[in-house]
Amino acid sequence: MAYLITCPSCQQEGLDPRYNPATCSACGKIFSVKPKCPKCDAELERVQACGAVDFFCNSCNELVSKRQAQYELTETQ
Ligand SMILES: [Zn+2]
Ligand SMILES: [Zn+2]
Repeated sequence: MAYLITCPSCQQEGLDPRYNPATCSACGKIFSVKPKCPKCDAELERVQACGAVDFFCNSCNELVSKRQAQYELTETQ
């Protein structure tokens, strides 16, 4: 099952962090998604591993799962 993040606009879990920008499936608003490392706050790189998209932190030199990552969401008009 896809892991969805909470939309800051409608508070529903409608944003898929695999996409950037991501469209909220509940309210239809579009956000740019910037994944950040929970440990060092650096911006994460998207990596494709075993068919799933995860993130990689270049400063910690380790994989960060979608559930661990922090997301900075910016609404785009
Ligand atoms: Zn929404
Ligand atoms: Zn890090």
